Amino acid sequence: MNTTPTRIARALAVLTVLLGWATIAWSDVDGEAERRRMVDDIKAMAAEVAEETGIANLSARVLDRIAEVPRHEFVPPEQRAFAYRNRPLAIGHKQTISQPFVVALMTELLDVKEEHRVLEIGTGSGYQGAVLAGLARDVYTIEIVRPLAETATAAFERLDYTNIHTRIGDGYRGWPEHGPYDGIMVTAAPDHIPPALIEQLKPGGRLVIPVGEVWQDLMVLTKNADGTTTTTTVVPVRFVPLTREEDAKD
Ligand code: SAH
Repeated sequence: MNTTPTRIARALAVLTVLLGWATIAWSDVDGEAERRRMVDDIKAMAAEVAEETGIANLSARVLDRIAEVPRHEFVPPEQRAFAYRNRPLAIGHKQTISQPFVVALMTELLDVKEEHRVLEIGTGSGYQGAVLAGLARDVYTIEIVRPLAETATAAFERLDYTNIHTRIGDGYRGWPEHGPYDGIMVTAAPDHIPPALIEQLKPGGRLVIPVGEVWQDLMVLTKNADGTTTTTTVVPVRFVPLTREEDAKD
């Protein structure tokens, strides 16, 4: 019987391949390698649309944060396999977690500094809030759909993001108790800029917001030192509409 050595060699070869796979799978148990690939996709897309956005390079600070936040923790189990694709995903209740490139772009436009206090309208999955929480001192985030707010809050607790504060309600009126804010980001689309959000912005502060129906213009409003505002339009985007609590409508 001279087949035994061949068998052993084959078995060893199979074992080596399996061990290799296991090592790769194990080393990316937290999705780190997948996130790095996603960041490359985000950079590529940023370069493609640089002429439109006027932003040639996203800052290392924003990209490093995106490389850090486990997006798979913010999507429903059936979407986990797609968590690191550069695309929006359904999170239930007819809502979506934004495309990672859009998260990066909006974060860049907000120009968040370490000492900033930031307000987000539309917590959704909690992912954008989690990205902001690593860049700002405090993040206040409002979600109108209770179960989404609860799932996001559970993720913040699980990941020990202690500087994100969630509230259930209509973000159209902002969250005046903690304002004024250095930056406000709206991730659902109203058909006009909510006046309360401008009021709750500090002089020098920025508001990043999609405005319009069906397709929107992503806008950046800056509050000047004298209280006047300057608004620029960045790119067309598509967000879910900002819904209103019936009794809160103006
Ligand atoms: N930033 C989110 C994207 C959320 S999609 C993320 O990272 O996943 C927009 C979210 O805005 C939805 O969850 C929707 O329920 C919420 N929303 C819509 N109208 C709102 C309002 N008036 N106030 C607060 N949240 C609102």
